[in-house]
Amino acid sequence: MKLLRLSKQLEPTLIAIRRSLHEIPEPSFEEYETQRKICFFLKAVRIPHRRIPGTTGVVGIIEGSAKRTIALRADMDALSLDEQTNLPFKSRNKGYMHACGHDAHMAIVLGAGRLLKELGKELPGRVKLIFQPAEESPPGGALELIRRGVLKKPKVDAIIGTHVSPALAAGRVAFNHGAISAAADDFEITITGRGGHGSSPHKGIDAIVVAAYFITQLQTIVSRRVSALENVVVSIGKIRGGYRDNIIADTVELEGTVRTRSDAMRKAVPAMMKQVLDATCSSFGASARFEYIEGYPAVICNEQLTTLAEEACRDLLGERNVLRTSEFEMGAEDFAHYARKVPGTIIFVGVASRRKRKVFELHHPRFDIDEAALRVGAAALAYTAYKWLEQCAEGSR
Ligand SMILES: [Zn+2]
Ligand SMILES: [Zn+2]
Repeated sequence: MKLLRLSKQLEPTLIAIRRSLHEIPEPSFEEYETQRKICFFLKAVRIPHRRIPGTTGVVGIIEGSAKRTIALRADMDALSLDEQTNLPFKSRNKGYMHACGHDAHMAIVLGAGRLLKELGKELPGRVKLIFQPAEESPPGGALELIRRGVLKKPKVDAIIGTHVSPALAAGRVAFNHGAISAAADDFEITITGRGGHGSSPHKGIDAIVVAAYFITQLQTIVSRRVSALENVVVSIGKIRGGYRDNIIADTVELEGTVRTRSDAMRKAVPAMMKQVLDATCSSFGASARFEYIEGYPAVICNEQLTTLAEEACRDLLGERNVLRTSEFEMGAEDFAHYARKVPGTIIFVGVASRRKRKVFELHHPRFDIDEAALRVGAAALAYTAYKWLEQCAEGSR
């Protein structure tokens, strides 16, 4: 419980860090100023760190009395969005905003690092702090950092991520077991027919009519061909085609997204889409190009690590402040890439204000957090890391 006391003392610093990062939101892979600040904060608390070459990522290392390593990951990027809050530390980078709480994630991981550093030789293992660029833009920063060896030297044995949750009051944390977010893939389709005069459609092949049939038919993949117990979404978000009222359109372009929960569905859905597309086109004599772009896979939390984290947080924050949500989100997180390599879990940190009634969603231009969440998140992360290392140390004794 020393951690709780220390985190209370640390609170003003964490708030100051979060605000100073909130002011300077930067786009994915361009987190230069953010990187500079993180290095500055790490240096201030004497945590050895290095920049990851070719990226804006940073890795900090806290040595303990054993060699097992747990990583704590924070994402660094902001969204292209005009902030509409009246906060005194509102975004100074026009067109960008920390509307997904990544400013808070960085402050929380820095805070956890600071708390663990305080333990000195009492820390029963090693902690790696990972500050990762570009969570918001697939292919994302996680994959790039893994490629550059972020999970090696020293080898990472487990990893914990964190995400703020406006659905949860500040002071609380939540966990979710198993697959907790969807795989998010995109697609691009071009349907090609033959142009002509609007008065004689039989002389052309109307790509707009083909596209209309295809879009309608496409929805039957989810409603008729996939089990109702599966979680699948197929959405078309963009359509473009045609020239003017009396011309038969020769091409139509479509763009959309596919969300799936299981690897099996992730493989099956694009194959069904291709089938529907080809069959629809051939029934009109049209042709099509289909491009499927894989984004982030589903985040799958490790059962043992999640249970350990849950218990640690109950210990720390009390039973009533630790929730288990079975809610599954069709959103995506590139933490998935780490969790496929090593056991991983995510701690959802409640940020909803207990005072304000209106809470804005993630990615909303008026999104804000209750900053009391920062010390709670830092303590939760630090204590979970400690508990995990302690368990490993006991196991190897
Ligand atoms: Zn986001
Ligand atoms: Zn996010």
